[in-house]
Amino acid sequence: NLDIRLRYIENEIKGDQIMGTVYDLTHVRRLEKIQRDFVGNVSHELKTPVTSLLGFTETLLDGAKDDPALTAEFLTIMQNDAKRLQRLIQDIIELSKDSNDLAEDRQTIEINYFLHQQVDLYQHLLKKKQITVTIEGAENCFYQTRLTFFQPIIKNLLENAIQYSPEESQIELSYRMTDQLEIAVTDHGIGMSKDDQKRIFERFYRVDKARARHSGGTGLGLAIVKEYSEILGGTIDVESHPKLGSTFTLKLPNK
Ligand code: ADP
Repeated sequence: NLDIRLRYIENEIKGDQIMGTVYDLTHVRRLEKIQRDFVGNVSHELKTPVTSLLGFTETLLDGAKDDPALTAEFLTIMQNDAKRLQRLIQDIIELSKDSNDLAEDRQTIEINYFLHQQVDLYQHLLKKKQITVTIEGAENCFYQTRLTFFQPIIKNLLENAIQYSPEESQIELSYRMTDQLEIAVTDHGIGMSKDDQKRIFERFYRVDKARARHSGGTGLGLAIVKEYSEILGGTIDVESHPKLGSTFTLKLPNK
């Protein structure tokens, strides 16, 4: 039941022998399709904020700029569009990192210190939403990893936990080291259904597209998390309950 169109048959005649080589291109074609779909999705995602930016620029130039209140309102929308474009571009650059290009990026980090450092980057946002973050795990937990891939995993999980948590709630980070390093990020936010849990690691998948767009999400964060967990030889899992919250668990080999 192989699709003959996906095969390339090369024949070679040597004397009275016919040599035949059959190449199975199924895998290559599938990769090509994934790449094409990605470019299509990216173009679509880029188009929305650009169309909005052009629309508002035109309205301002057409006369709205004479109204200071309207000007301020439009500029705020345009700033959000530009930020959205910036996030998309950052995530696309992130996804284009090639694991082979960066073979020499191994570093030893202390997990407790590293997690505190990452949380500190969001102090402003955490204060604004009055969210507290706890970090639990033994000190002096040293781990050798490729920071280029490890850091974006933690960053994206933490950003999502903050993004999808209500005000005045708590986020728990915990870790333990056995034959593997296990890091769990738990929030008490909106959670998600079982069906959504199966799809959230796909590129551009968002549970609530309208809200995600409004909140500035790119839909690429968890795809980055999954791809990088695999590059590091590990796994990422989610356990979640709608309206109760989610726990994302990263498991990486301890070697
Ligand atoms: P986004 O940029 O939209 O956050 P992600 O790839 O990071 O994209 O996440 C994909 C979708 O998974 C999000 O749009 C959101 O619906 C859901 N999601 C991710 N993290 C959480 C979380 N901690 N709680 C609830 N839903 C989440």
